[in-house]
Amino acid sequence: MDKYLKAIKQNVCAICVDSNERGGCTLSHKETCAVEYFLPSVIEIVHSTETDEISVYHKLVKEKICINCHEDENGSCYLHEDANCSLDRYFSLIVETIKRVDKNLPV
Ligand code: SF4
Ligand code: SF4
Repeated sequence: MDKYLKAIKQNVCAICVDSNERGGCTLSHKETCAVEYFLPSVIEIVHSTETDEISVYHKLVKEKICINCHEDENGSCYLHEDANCSLDRYFSLIVETIKRVDKNLPV
């Protein structure tokens, strides 16, 4: 898990709107980053299916993660609507980073 976290910090936190100029997270202790919180589940999803179609992974995230997160009974999430979910915002980059770690490619 450490290698994935390290790569995510390098690739995603570095550009995240919630990071400072050195890539450090600015969320308070009361806030939770969906990228960090759900990373094990996202890795599991990426490893469960081999595809270049990001929409396939996105559908699985909705089915397996969002349903237990902030999604309402209509399948909507106010954090998604406000572009306020880090997992959602950087999803393509997160999947790409996981795949690069798996292939031992530089991240
Ligand atoms: S909110 Fe998440 S993705 Fe953004 S800097 Fe913090 S830990 Fe990284
Ligand atoms: S889009 Fe919403 S429901 Fe899905 S992970 Fe992000 S905050 Fe949770």
